[in-house]
This record gives sequence, structure tokens and C-alpha cells, in this order.
Amino acid sequence: MTFHPHTARRTVLIAGASLAGPTLAYWLHRYGFAVTVVEKAHAPRGGGYPIDVRGTAIDVVRRMGILPRLQVAHIDTGRFTFLDADGGEVAALHPYAVAGSVEGQDLEVGRGDLTAALYETVQDDVEFVFDDSIDALDQHGHGVDVTFRSGRHRTFDVVVGADGMHSGTRKVMFGPEEQFHRYLGYGFAVFTMPNTLGLSRELMMWNTPGRAAALYATGDADDELHAFLNFHQPEQPLTVRREGRRDQDAQRDLVARTYAGAGWEVASIVKAMYQADDLFFDTAGQIRMPSWSSGRVAFVGDAAYAPSFLTGQGSSLALVGAYMLARSLATHGDHVGAFAAYERDTREFVTMNQALVDRGGARLFPTTAEALDRRNAMLRDLVAMPATTPRPAHSALVLPEPAPTP
Ligand SMILES: Cc1cc2nc3c(=O)[nH]c(=O)nc-3n(C[C@H](O)[C@H](O)[C@H](O)COP(=O)(O)OP(=O)(O)OC[C@H]3O[C@@H](n4cnc5c(N)ncnc54)[C@H](O)[C@@H]3O)c2cc1C
Repeated sequence: MTFHPHTARRTVLIAGASLAGPTLAYWLHRYGFAVTVVEKAHAPRGGGYPIDVRGTAIDVVRRMGILPRLQVAHIDTGRFTFLDADGGEVAALHPYAVAGSVEGQDLEVGRGDLTAALYETVQDDVEFVFDDSIDALDQHGHGVDVTFRSGRHRTFDVVVGADGMHSGTRKVMFGPEEQFHRYLGYGFAVFTMPNTLGLSRELMMWNTPGRAAALYATGDADDELHAFLNFHQPEQPLTVRREGRRDQDAQRDLVARTYAGAGWEVASIVKAMYQADDLFFDTAGQIRMPSWSSGRVAFVGDAAYAPSFLTGQGSSLALVGAYMLARSLATHGDHVGAFAAYERDTREFVTMNQALVDRGGARLFPTTAEALDRRNAMLRDLVAMPATTPRPAHSALVLPEPAPTP
């Protein structure tokens, strides 16, 4: 079906109100679409670990008018200290030397700060439905009939899954996640804990082969710490895939067993994990889909191409992907052309960034003694090097101008 801009506003349902969802909603609203966002949580999810916005993604937030706000929220971390098994210092660097970010341009912000900034750009302009999700999709020549978990039924011209790595919308559309999931060999736990070490604007990371424990003080010594336990697991741990309290207990026990006997402050970090009420446990993995759409249903952000935290590029891909998808929908009269253009213009950028996993991030978490020695030697070399080299993948896509607004 071809849309005629002057007849009726095109309707889009977006599942997910985190990064990709509100970004897409903002641009689609600007282009004259009638947008509904459905989010399974009861409000935009605040809190969370620090995330990066880099390269091309900086242009997206600048064009949305939220760059100054994010610059204020920027976490200015001075030091990244690597520790050996006993807690002795291996090397201390500027964090950007490790991540390939550009000082003065790229940003690191709390995930909740970015979510809130994005949400506030659209909250009064589009319809948000919280506490609900998509249960069934039925496509036909004139639209997509959607059945929501709440039992409601509505029809939209287009549906977009922006509901994250474990996208329920993708499951409804294509079936089990396993067919798109590439397991990267690590399990991890993230949570906040009291800042008993008095750390201030710094990151400390302890490594032994296959085990890492990091403490990140994004604020001052009286603020809480973000704790991160990342460990090698050749087989994907089954406990991650299920929800519920009993499985959180199993996840905690798996982490505790993995870190038994560890030095430095690790025992107290594991103890804090048992007390944390914000534990997030998952495995490192990527989503790789041969096509990001089917008919009138498309996917964006982690739902379509999660690159994993090992690349530090998930947020940037979500922002850029949403911008590109909205622009394609605005410039093409029908969804077929729009989705093809979105994929044609964005896939190379995504592929380059997903490929970073084989370089940067995984090197932070060596799994053998030899690899750890090599990593430590590389860190000592980095200390001696004055400048940071930005990763070309971060800026590989030159953001096209926005589409004309109606
Ligand atoms: C520990 C950790 C560290 C990370 N560090 C970085 C980093 O340093 N840099 C970086 O760029 N990225 C990082 N990331 C990745 C980053 O968080 C994600 O790539 C990014 O949040 C993806 O945004 P998204 O909007 O696509 O999906 P998500 O942020 O996952 O949001 C999905 C949204 O959909 C909602 N939802 C889920 N299911 C449904 C449903 N069925 N119906 C409706 N709504 C639903 C969820 O509640 C959520 O609000 C990290 C991730 C983790 C886990």
C-alpha cells in the first residue's frame, strides 16, 4: 500500500521506551506520523549503569536538542586502574585511552539520564502506554492488527520493535531468540553497592584469567558504586533465561561460586551482590538478524542488532538506527521502500560496530593467563602513549540531514 501524506497521518506503534523507542518516536512525530509507544514497565526505567554516546550518535542527540543537557550529565572519570589478582596496580590510564572515545566530544552518561532526556523530548507529543506489550501481530494489506497483553486490539500502518536484546516483539514475529543470538562466552552481574572504598570519579578493574570485577565511582566518595562482575563461561548459563526470584538466587550463587577465593575486594563485592535490589544478570551476546523487517514490522536498536556491552556501542547504534529508520519512513511513501532504505544505509555501520567485539572490549576480559599477560603489556604501552585513537567505526556513518518536515 502507498501512503499519501495529505490524506491521513500514518500510524506507527513502537514497542519499548528506552533509547531507540523514544528517539524513533521523536523523529516520526516531527515528520508528521501519529505515534504510539507501548512499554512493558510501568514508567521509563531510570537508574542503571553508565553508557557511552559516541561519534555519529553525538550528531543525533545534537539534532534532538539534548546535547547540552547530556554534556552537563557527562561523567568525567579521571582514572581507570587495572589490578592484578592480589589487588596490585598493573596500569592506570585515562578511560578514553581504553575505550577509544574522543575527549571533549564523546559522552558517558548514566543510562537513566539518557532515557529521561529522550523521553522528555516526546512525552507530550506522542501516546505512551505503559504496563503493556504486544501479544500478537496480524499483518494484512492495510495495516497490522495488534493484540496487546492487556487484551486491547488496535490497528497500525507500521509496527517497530525497539524492545531490547530479548525483544518480545521479535519473538512474536520470528520465534525464539536463539536463531539470532550469538553468545560471546561471558556471563555478568551489574548492581549498585555502598562506596565503602571511598572511590571518587574513577574505575578500578581486577582481573584473573576468565574473571573480572570492576567498581565504578561515577560520582563522589559519598555516592554509591556501580559494581560489575564479568566472567568467562564457555557454555551459556541456563539461569539467565528465566525470570523470578528463585532464578535470581541461582544467578547469585553461580557468581559466588565463580568468584570463590578471589583476592582484592572481590569477596565484599560478592557479598554486596546478595544485598543489592537492582541486580541485573545476563550474558554477553549479539543479535544478528539477516533482515531487520518483515512486511510492516521492523526492528531497531538492541532488538535488531545488539552489539553487546563489550563494544560499548549499543546506545550509539540504538540512537543512530532510530534516526535512520525515522528518516527512511519519512522519505519513502511506503514501508517496503522505507525498510529497504533503512537497512541499506545503516547495515554497514552496524556491522563495523558489532565487529569491535573481536578487538577492544573482549581484550578487557582475557580468559587465559597468556592473554592476560598480553593485555597487561598492552595497557602499560598505552600509558606511555599520549593520545587516544578514536575507533573509526564510531563515526563510520555520516548522518544525513533530517527529512523535510510536513
Ligand atoms: C551492563 C551493560 C553495560 C552496557 N554498557 C554500555 C556502554 O558502555 N555503552 C553503550 O553504548 N551501551 C552499553 N550497553 C548497552 C545499552 O544499554 C543498550 O545497547 C541500549 O540500552 C539499547 O537500547 P534499546 O532502546 O535498543 O533497548 P533497551 O535499552 O534494552 O530497551 C528496551 C525497552 O523495551 C522494554 N521492553 C522489553 N520488552 C518489551 C515488550 N515485550 N513490550 C514493550 N516493551 C518492552 C524494556 O522495558 C525497555 O524499556 C550496556 C548494556 C549492559 C547490559
